[in-house]
Amino acid sequence: MGLEDLYREIILDHYRSPRNRGELPPPAHRVEGFNPLCGDEVILTLELTDGVVTDIAIGGQGCSISQSSASMMTAAIKGKSVDETREFISAFKTMMSIHQQELGDDEHAELEEINPELKLGDLEALKGVVKFPVRIKCATLGWNTLVQALDELDA
Ligand code: ZN
Repeated sequence: MGLEDLYREIILDHYRSPRNRGELPPPAHRVEGFNPLCGDEVILTLELTDGVVTDIAIGGQGCSISQSSASMMTAAIKGKSVDETREFISAFKTMMSIHQQELGDDEHAELEEINPELKLGDLEALKGVVKFPVRIKCATLGWNTLVQALDELDA
């Protein structure tokens, strides 16, 4: 199986079996994100306890890229501190801003510099998306919604 196929499988797996799907009940913080270019919608609910993301859920609907990216995001950050979460968001956005399909050594070094412990894991499956600039908005929708939630919580 080639890398492209593997990435496609990972994305489809998260699309078909989204992780942390649904909405947390109040008092969880709730933010809605919308990508008008594609019609994607993300409803993010988030629980912070002592500076740690103790729970997160994703509702809404949209294309496979938007929903699988949000699913991978929840799996990656649940249980992380707010600081770690913000570093992770920053690393993901760096990856999505590199306009070539394969990361070169320099870009890997750049990501590792942000946080040597950081492993993007499944999220690397989304790096092929940067070839299609219009889809980048799909891939980053959940992440921008999460940033909005953290900002609103002043976390
Ligand atoms: Zn989309």
